[in-house]
Amino acid sequence: MSGITILGSTGSIGVNTLDVIRQHPGRYEVVALTAHTSVDKLYEQCLEWHPRYAVLRDESAAEQLQNRLASSLPDIEVLAGEAGLEKVAALPEVSIVMAAIVGAAGLLSTLAAAQAGKKVLLANKEALVMSGQLFMDAISRNQATLLPIDSEHNAIFQCLFNQDKNAVERILLTASGGPFRTWSPEQLADVTPAQACAHPNWEMGQKISVDSATMMNKGLEVIEAHWLFNLPTEQIEVLIHPQSVIHSLVEYADGSLLAQLGNPDMRTPIAYGLAWPQRMASGVARLDLTRVAKLNFEAADFSRFPCLQLAYEALIAGGTTTTILNAANEVAVDAFLNQKLAFTQIAAIIEQTLGHISGRPAQTLEVILEDDQQAREFATAKLT
Ligand code: NAD
Ligand code: MG
Repeated sequence: MSGITILGSTGSIGVNTLDVIRQHPGRYEVVALTAHTSVDKLYEQCLEWHPRYAVLRDESAAEQLQNRLASSLPDIEVLAGEAGLEKVAALPEVSIVMAAIVGAAGLLSTLAAAQAGKKVLLANKEALVMSGQLFMDAISRNQATLLPIDSEHNAIFQCLFNQDKNAVERILLTASGGPFRTWSPEQLADVTPAQACAHPNWEMGQKISVDSATMMNKGLEVIEAHWLFNLPTEQIEVLIHPQSVIHSLVEYADGSLLAQLGNPDMRTPIAYGLAWPQRMASGVARLDLTRVAKLNFEAADFSRFPCLQLAYEALIAGGTTTTILNAANEVAVDAFLNQKLAFTQIAAIIEQTLGHISGRPAQTLEVILEDDQQAREFATAKLT
């Protein structure tokens, strides 16, 4: 049995991960489950999975969980705070860590898993966007294994596996285009959080849903691809593909394009990551190509979706510029979700933050966290 910690077990990726594990009794032991404040959901997961550890980032939520478990499952150790997350990411009895916390909040625990040499299943793309080189160094220095769970990167990983890496000409990251792919700039000005969170093909957490609607998600994925596959920006392209059936492609020197296809269901990349280098059932419905019938493609529109442009520019600028981009985006998306910022102002806040704070070499964690904090403060001040 492989011991697994799921960071962010109550979220969309976390719940899908448990669903895949449920289909393979005896193969994985759920050692630790974690969440931010969701006491009820984590309590239910504890009843089903009986992990050794349950962690809540929020201290008072942890106390509530502790009280509820005291009568039913007193042997589950309840931990709180960042220290609890980092501890369960590095336990000796754990070999696999699913990093599925959303945003910068997942950086330190994901890094702890890398430093402990785990098989890291990376869904938390923001961690890599913030700390690119530092994170990749932690993986290689500690002989950790990094498996991308983001569907596009998982597809590319599959299309690169056992291939001649020197013959890669470019990768094509597919993007559905989100719910507003065909909307005019005027329509975009009045978008509500509910509209932005209603993604046509995927069911996801709120933050990534808004990122998909602004296309910042694809921008973050370009940066993620740069670090995961060690490719220069010029070799990473975005291709709009509204059906989300082709999850991404790799083009080789001989003109071959390798693609991975499947229904848009995160349980496929999750099962791939869990079983790698083997494969196992995921519970995902088979893709019926005769029902799909047509696959469409178009170029990305950088003018209606300026976040994509900002992400490319931040990647080219390098260093902590992508940390600043990510931090400003998190602040702006949160403000949009709380109806304190218009949809089209998300990009404006990020642009202003990038214009005000200069990136610098991202050599240490201190520098990264400092620039993250500075960007958050500046972006927050711009909201009012
Ligand atoms: P979600 O909002 O559904 O879940 C987030 C999880 O993180 C929850 O368990 C929550 O309790 C926990 N969390 C939130 N804030 C926290 C904090 N401050 N401290 C500790 N824990 C915290 O998000 P999601 O859609 O599952 O996405 C998770 C990550 O996976 C994101 O980085 C996202 O970009 C990435 N991802 C998600 C999908 C998807 O289909 N949902 C696809 C690709 C990549
Ligand atoms: Mg993705």
